[in-house]
Amino acid sequence: MIRKENTADENIRRLLKQFKLPGMHDRFNEEIDRAVEGNLGHRAFLQKLLEVEEASKKDRLRLKRIKEAHFEEYKMIEEFDFGFQGNVSQSKILDLATLSFLDKHENVIFIGPPGVGKSHISTGLGMKACEAGRSVLYANAIELMDYLAKCLEKGTLRQQLKRLSKVDLLIIDDLGYLKMDKEKESIFFQLIRQRYEKKSLIITTNLPFNRWDEVFTNELAAAAVLDRLLHHVHIISISGDSYRVNKKLEEAPND
Ligand code: ADP
Ligand code: MG
Repeated sequence: MIRKENTADENIRRLLKQFKLPGMHDRFNEEIDRAVEGNLGHRAFLQKLLEVEEASKKDRLRLKRIKEAHFEEYKMIEEFDFGFQGNVSQSKILDLATLSFLDKHENVIFIGPPGVGKSHISTGLGMKACEAGRSVLYANAIELMDYLAKCLEKGTLRQQLKRLSKVDLLIIDDLGYLKMDKEKESIFFQLIRQRYEKKSLIITTNLPFNRWDEVFTNELAAAAVLDRLLHHVHIISISGDSYRVNKKLEEAPND
């Protein structure tokens, strides 16, 4: 039904804007039409209208959280082809997707070669957390540590670490390509200590645990970090072929 804008509508729009109710602002005409068609009572109509606003608010918050998470790509667990990566336990990943690990402040570590879906699944879990109203931050390990080392120089490290400690789920991607110096190692250790048994971490890496000393300055430092990380942890090892390479090979002419 096409409606001519009248003064009542203008007033309603103005008030809904003033009281910051954008969901109702965008939908009230449509809902009035539906209410008339469906012969809805006043009370039911009011309830419907408020539910429209509630859903719209939830959606706005979800989008805000996803934006603030700084994902590199938007990937969903539902888009992951478990048939291709047969050695990833689908039930284990779906269980993680219920986010009970977040409630228990547990960590998740994905270990495997490039292209097997570590970032995809981590992002998918992060998206689920955003949908569930949790705050998430996705960071590449090298970039995160460079940034925090700069914060140390500028004297803002404490403040930044405090901010990071409030994030419900911190995803540190590709820890294996980082080589820490003493300074970064100390910052990283503070980060881990802060979150220990309080907030969850997801780490992805190409390195098995017996090679984590390559990231840190020595074996002792690696052991100290692992000691905390591994206390409450889900370890997901993914072996197998790179999805990217496989797709490329499929596309390539085979003559
Ligand atoms: P990794 O972080 O392990 O290097 P990614 O998660 O970045 O790998 O995966 C590389 C690309 O392949 C991404 O675009 C990802 O979405 C896709 N991908 C990897 N594994 C799968 C899979 N099993 N099903 C669907 N897409 C996949
Ligand atoms: Mg990756």
